[in-house]
Amino acid sequence: MTETKSASDIIRAKREQRLPALAVSRGIGIGKIVFLHGERRRYFRLDLDTEQIEAELERFKAALKTSTLQLRAISSDTASDSRQSASGIFGVHLLILESSFAEKIETFIKKEHVNAEWAIKTISDQYVERQTRVTETDFRDKYLDIEDVSTRLLNALDKFQETIHTHSDSVIAARDLTPSAIMELVKNKPSALITEQGGWTSHSSILARELNLPMVSGVRNLEHYMLAGDRVVVDGINGEVILNPSDETVAGFQALPVAHSQSGISGSSRAESLMTMDGTRFVLRANVDQPETYQTAKNRGARGIGLYRSETLIRQPGAIPSEDQQFEAYKNIADASGEQGVKIRTFDVGIDRFGSAPHWIERNPSLGLRAIRLSLADPTHFRTQLRAILRAAFGKKIDIILPMISGADEIVRAKMILDSERADLIKAGIDIGDPQLGAMIETPSAVLTAFEIAKHVDFLCLGTNDLVQYLLAVDRDNDAVADWYQTLHPAVIRAISNVLVAAQNAGVPVTVCGEMAGSPFYVSVLLGIGVRDFSMNVNSIQAVRRLLSGISLSDAVALVVNISKFLTAEEAENYLREYYFKHWAALFPADFLDSRFR
Ligand code: PEP
Ligand code: MG
Repeated sequence: MTETKSASDIIRAKREQRLPALAVSRGIGIGKIVFLHGERRRYFRLDLDTEQIEAELERFKAALKTSTLQLRAISSDTASDSRQSASGIFGVHLLILESSFAEKIETFIKKEHVNAEWAIKTISDQYVERQTRVTETDFRDKYLDIEDVSTRLLNALDKFQETIHTHSDSVIAARDLTPSAIMELVKNKPSALITEQGGWTSHSSILARELNLPMVSGVRNLEHYMLAGDRVVVDGINGEVILNPSDETVAGFQALPVAHSQSGISGSSRAESLMTMDGTRFVLRANVDQPETYQTAKNRGARGIGLYRSETLIRQPGAIPSEDQQFEAYKNIADASGEQGVKIRTFDVGIDRFGSAPHWIERNPSLGLRAIRLSLADPTHFRTQLRAILRAAFGKKIDIILPMISGADEIVRAKMILDSERADLIKAGIDIGDPQLGAMIETPSAVLTAFEIAKHVDFLCLGTNDLVQYLLAVDRDNDAVADWYQTLHPAVIRAISNVLVAAQNAGVPVTVCGEMAGSPFYVSVLLGIGVRDFSMNVNSIQAVRRLLSGISLSDAVALVVNISKFLTAEEAENYLREYYFKHWAALFPADFLDSRFR
């Protein structure tokens, strides 16, 4: 693959230059930049090998189909009301798509061996150029329609896997990355990821940590500083991107002993017990989506899978696995976790992931029709999933978690659906298991009604990633508000404590499965508030285990009492850092307390 972007387009700085970033997955990655996604990819020509052409044409055809469906839906919507002119515009867009425009793009990909984005851009430029030469204004303005259609095609293309091939020394730079895109990319073992968007609790950051892949986010306009192929160091410990590093700088990073380890703990873990210094037992579980990962988690001390994010089975929008495919996946993860069991969370996705209503764009997707709401609004996929889980649970330890619960009534409604699927399977003589039912507590309303919710379920899961997001009204995926995403905000501490009291009253256990549980920085606070059951990324287990087994519960309680006096999260963070340096420094991964990484 080669890039033909002219160097004169770019303000390049060949000297070493440092850009601040948000460290979201620990480690150091050194390699050559490969740009992916979005605007910058559109203006790059990628020269493909002959064997890549077929896949590239498939991508283009898939994008063409999506765009056509979108336009048909919009024009029929607008035709039925008073927006006649809108319907006309989208009708014109459809005509463009169905004209020789698309054919020319396909031919260009085949003849020139280039990526679909470049072909769209080139053909659309040719059309626009021709159109702007027309003398009548009305016709001349039609070039806007061509640009509009091209943008729609490019946006649709973003949804389909790319044919970009990366190498083991590639550093992937993208506007943002979905977990499924990361799963594709890791096949070629890139050395690090850089994104413009995303916070510490974004799903892509969580996955990068699980894969031990250094990652930073919040780096904007990288293409203004660099060309594809330029050398870069990604410092996922201190949060920095070093462009065009000198040989000396690179050698300095290569010499770092534990930099490449996610946990920051070198060598095999000590035989730390699962008990605090003053004898309080705690349970560690793993957040695992791949069955093969569980053995590592178990070796490190995990006892069961506390969170299986079933939506990772949906690789593309609309590609919902069948009941049998899900049954296999759930059986495999249950086999891997054995007697210690797995808690399967039902699809925690927005309507866009189901691929229906392609023209329906939600203004606030994280507040929209998603998770349990989607399951209850149209239970088709929910019923399929529950059947697959019930069947897979036969003779196995599988429990069910319902995501984004906002009140007890949703549990009651979900239970009715579960009961009806159970009854049907029994009637059909199919073997099923008896999963326990749990609720994710991650919305403010669930915190405030935790007492009622707890009475309707067998267990609770505290999803601190979303809890912080919804409680503080801060988008967890937006690094621009990362400073407002405050895990130690007094409201968060109080909310967690509320939930623990409610669970205790109802006599149900609570597992904390958000990233807070996997952070050595925060986990002692959770212990002090009363948490005894922690579920985390496989690469956090050793560090958390070392910390919890090296401190006493009484110290953790005292810490919580002290930080509860502060009005701001910042004061609490500073207090904790100082305390850790003074008393527990040896229990933290090397350089952890100095870094910005949590
Ligand atoms: C959470 O919200 O804390 C959680 C564990 O789930 P997710 O990160 O998948 O939203
Ligand atoms: Mg969540």
